[in-house]
Amino acid sequence: MSNYHPLNEAEAIRIAKSIAGIFSAEGELVCSEIGDGNLNLVFHVTQPSTGAGVIVKQALPYAKVVGESWPLTLDRARIESEALRIEGRHAPGLVPEVYYTDHELALTVMEDLSSHVIMRRGLIEGGVYPKFADDISEFLARTLFFTSDLGMNQQEKKTLAASFSNPELCKITEDLIFDHPYTDADTNSFDDHLKEEAALLWSDQELHLEVALLREKFLTHAQALLHGDLHTGSIFITPDSTKIIDPEFAYFGPMGFDIGAVLANLLLNFASQEHWSDNDSARQARRAYLIETVRDIWTGFERKFRALWDAHGVDRIARTAGYQDDYMQRLLQDSVGFAGSKMVRRIVGLAHVADIDKIPEPAVRGQAQVIALAIGKSLIKNNRKLTSIEQLIDIAESAA
Ligand code: ADP
Ligand code: MG
Ligand code: MG
Ligand code: MG
Repeated sequence: MSNYHPLNEAEAIRIAKSIAGIFSAEGELVCSEIGDGNLNLVFHVTQPSTGAGVIVKQALPYAKVVGESWPLTLDRARIESEALRIEGRHAPGLVPEVYYTDHELALTVMEDLSSHVIMRRGLIEGGVYPKFADDISEFLARTLFFTSDLGMNQQEKKTLAASFSNPELCKITEDLIFDHPYTDADTNSFDDHLKEEAALLWSDQELHLEVALLREKFLTHAQALLHGDLHTGSIFITPDSTKIIDPEFAYFGPMGFDIGAVLANLLLNFASQEHWSDNDSARQARRAYLIETVRDIWTGFERKFRALWDAHGVDRIARTAGYQDDYMQRLLQDSVGFAGSKMVRRIVGLAHVADIDKIPEPAVRGQAQVIALAIGKSLIKNNRKLTSIEQLIDIAESAA
């Protein structure tokens, strides 16, 4: 019989205390639950006398969606802890250290990153992160390369992929990203002033074809182990450190899905500058910074991924003339298409982003939404034609 039950704070403290090498034997531990409670409990256990702390994250057996509770597999806690370990091996220093995992209780005890801020909030507050593009491109290049058929033994990869099939969380993505925004679904949610824009999405057959092709890749293209939910709310940051958290959606899918998630969230913040910048010149400067970051992420990713391929490609076929160039081109196109899909869903779908939703003035929020939708739609429609990151940048700049 399963021992699973949602922990209370005293139990979280007891588990935290059992982790060796974190807390001093003297000095009491205190605990507060800091998660948003929709999917998971997140206990922050600290020792005020030493300043030491850990995070105890526990999956709940349901998700709260539009006021209802849906059963949701606890196995995602195993997926999250295993993904963190694999990512930590391939990209040292870029994820929290995992101290302990209990599959039955569906929990992970991990490094306390309270010295960092969630990047979405950091960007809203105007933060500048000079190391981010280098760190995230490193994370993407190394985790994606070393879990792909280019960077690992193909038989071992198939075995590993089986333990990351993650059907329930993939289904959430399939529905919320590739299906619901393109039809009048109950889960959709958007401001009244966007009714016409939403209806345009539902009848746009050119868009629907591209989204169907992107969904097919999401469903069938087991290219590498993805993080699966790599938005700026899954990134902890300071000016000199980046830590990627929350890979419970991890599965073997198309690399562009992770790369596109990062680009999309920077571009959503780009659109939201309608409000968050004080005046035109500040807005221009802020947008230039975000665009520079987008460019540096792609060019850094491409350079690092190619270098890994040249140094660590596992077989002869990986060295086939012309193959690497063709592969990188397809990766760029996938990243652009998935970035567009992620922007659209954040405007009309179930889950929005604070960058835009927290804009108080409806007219200004509306402008930001229209910019984000225009960029998103154009990236989706043009994804198979793009040959350079500069074309993505042109699309973003001409929508603003
Ligand atoms: P969920 O899967 O429910 O979204 P997250 O892993 O994103 O859970 O965590 C939710 C919140 O809990 C984060 O936004 C952050 O505020 C806090 N948190 C999560 N992990 C850590 C950590 N390692 N250190 C400090 N705070 C954390
Ligand atoms: Mg959450
Ligand atoms: Mg999260
Ligand atoms: Mg999560």
